[in-house]
Amino acid sequence: MGMPENIIVGSHVWVGDPELVWIDGVVLNINGEEVEIQTSNEKKVVSCLSKLHPKDTDAPTDGVDDMTKLAYLHEPGVLHNLETRYKINEIYTYTGNILIAINPFQNLPHLYDANAMKKYKGEKIGNLSPHVFAIAEAAYRAMITEEKSNSILVSGESGAGKTETTKTLMLYLAYLGGHTASEGRTVEQQVLESNPVLEAFGNAKTVRNDNSSRFGKFVEIQFDKIGRISGAAIRTYLLEKSRVCQISDPERNYHCFYLLCASPPEEKEKYKLGDPRSFHYLNQSSCYELTGVNAAQEYLSTKRAMDIVGISQEEQDAIFRVVAAILHLGNVRFAKSEETDSSVLADEDSKFHLQTTAELLMCDPNAVEVALCKRVMITPEEIIERSLDPLAATVSRDGLAKTLYSRLFDWLVQKINISIGQDPTSKYLIGVLDIYGFESFQTNSFEQFCINFTNEKLQQHFNQHVFKMEQEEYTKEEIDWSYLEFVDNQDVLDLIEKKPGGIVALLDEACMFPKSTHETFSTKLYQTFKDHKRFIKPKLARSDFTIVHYAGEVQYQSEQFLDKNKDYVVPEHQDMLSTSKCSFVAELFPPLSEETAKSAKFSSIGSRFKLQLQHLMDALNLTEPHYIRCVKPNSLLKPGIFENMNVIHQLRSGGVLEAVRIKCAGFPTHRTFHEFLTRLGILAPEVLHGNFEEKDSCKKILEKAGLTDYQIGKTKIFLRAGHMAELDARRAYML
Ligand code: ADP
Ligand code: MG
Repeated sequence: MGMPENIIVGSHVWVGDPELVWIDGVVLNINGEEVEIQTSNEKKVVSCLSKLHPKDTDAPTDGVDDMTKLAYLHEPGVLHNLETRYKINEIYTYTGNILIAINPFQNLPHLYDANAMKKYKGEKIGNLSPHVFAIAEAAYRAMITEEKSNSILVSGESGAGKTETTKTLMLYLAYLGGHTASEGRTVEQQVLESNPVLEAFGNAKTVRNDNSSRFGKFVEIQFDKIGRISGAAIRTYLLEKSRVCQISDPERNYHCFYLLCASPPEEKEKYKLGDPRSFHYLNQSSCYELTGVNAAQEYLSTKRAMDIVGISQEEQDAIFRVVAAILHLGNVRFAKSEETDSSVLADEDSKFHLQTTAELLMCDPNAVEVALCKRVMITPEEIIERSLDPLAATVSRDGLAKTLYSRLFDWLVQKINISIGQDPTSKYLIGVLDIYGFESFQTNSFEQFCINFTNEKLQQHFNQHVFKMEQEEYTKEEIDWSYLEFVDNQDVLDLIEKKPGGIVALLDEACMFPKSTHETFSTKLYQTFKDHKRFIKPKLARSDFTIVHYAGEVQYQSEQFLDKNKDYVVPEHQDMLSTSKCSFVAELFPPLSEETAKSAKFSSIGSRFKLQLQHLMDALNLTEPHYIRCVKPNSLLKPGIFENMNVIHQLRSGGVLEAVRIKCAGFPTHRTFHEFLTRLGILAPEVLHGNFEEKDSCKKILEKAGLTDYQIGKTKIFLRAGHMAELDARRAYML
């Protein structure tokens, strides 16, 4: 479909454009393969005939709500359709069963209010305009009727709208499976209120998104046999720890720090807090406020959400004491002691903050100071105490802050899970995945490596589902179809996760060998993957390496891979915190058993993450998936602006265009005989009144409409791209 069948002088076409990706125009001249075109922005360009795409001049001016209805399904057609719809605030569009959601960057409340929810309830997907609700509805109905778990996978780059979409999904599921208001604090309320709590502690302003989630999240909502929400489990992935100690302008640290600094006076007094500008962990960036957000109010609403998810007042107090302690800890500075190489607190101010940290954590201030500045080495002969120089003590301080924060975050997740409660008798569930999209930056480190690894996994799942399901359907219906190949990414996954010999395994090996450096690690990679199609040693690189991901090449800087892969709590920190008089703090650091203390020399973040991902994939494989691809229309985060280049890039890396291509090569429209007749019977009323089998009625309608290139399966009609639109147009004419 959509190939330049007969492009002639005067034809409307799409031609490639370096800035707009595609621009429309009219053919002025054809000279063999060479075509001259007058573009709609008043330029004359020459292009090669085979690179042109025909433009559908009859396309509805408001676009179509499902790409498979486009008469010509090609890249410019898809892009133009999305743009047309975006300009009239139609932010949702289907591509078959995939929902594409374009971030409006403005509130469209009518889209999500109670009326809208009511409208979608009980409706079949495709009967109403595309919507997140329709996807949730489809998942819920499929769960009930097929008695099978479903999942909804939301993906897209940072700021594309994944988290907002996830919340909308959960809101609708709560509406469908909710309890009556008189039942008090309900499971669904707790599920919904877990969002603001996790956002306060796991979200931060970044360049790409003012409220960027710095962790991945999979929420399993459990249902009882009558379809009511009966429990939930939240799993989180890989919180970005480095942000606690290090931020760059104009980003921010985690929201909770600023909220606490804006708490009521008596609380600020209690935690000895003041202006966020006075804390090193916050003042590395000059951004303190978020537009449109009142931190004082947010603080109160976060506490209210904490109440609802079952975090007690004492626990809240302890949580905020830890948050405040981290801020004070960051202001502790070290100087060289006059006699030796060791460190001392730099000044009175540092002493004050150390004292305050200790008070808030309810630990002995001397113990805190020793834990920060000294290391104990146990050799077979003796126990040696070594002092750290000021630089090492600062690293030690930041390590402590990160450990505290990540344990705190894990505690919150666990607490929420316990308090919402799991339903052991739950029949089935709906999983909602909100996880970071593919990343490729100027510099890419271990975090990007893990994130892109995740996306490779999800891409494989997506491919397998979309394409294999398509093929299975054809086979099941026994129709002819020459199967199309799709680019499989198993080879990238092998490169990363194969055991032994994949990058993760080699990294672990390097981490266990004391003499390794990032250079020896990279050299090992270069040797091992010399001939791997998905691995490139960049020219002149000494320690960088490039992976050819499904979404494009990414060059990684290996400098911090070894450090970042080691999950290591300094035993001195562990010992100090486990003696805290505050049971909350002490319980964050349960004393290690003799055995684990010895064996836990090195625990690999990469391997643990790989395992977590495997569990996630196993869980997803038990469900019927639905996909939502979020798209960020511009980098300015402003409404109404649609940047073609940006969007095309995301559609390509999200696999949307690949899905479109494969779908279109076959018969993208499937309708059961009954559905087909209900919708299009009007085209041949005489057939409806005759005494025919449904299958024969369908055939007669298609014949009458003059279509030839269709397939009739055992229970369904299969149409080429665009044919449904053609039939619909006739129907509209008859109505
Ligand atoms: P992601 O999770 O993909 O990084 P978010 O879901 O946090 O992105 O969205 C970023 C911002 O975009 C939100 O804070 C909000 O301002 C805006 N946004 C996203 N989706 C919508 C929507 N459906 N309606 C209105 N604004 C939205
Ligand atoms: Mg997010």
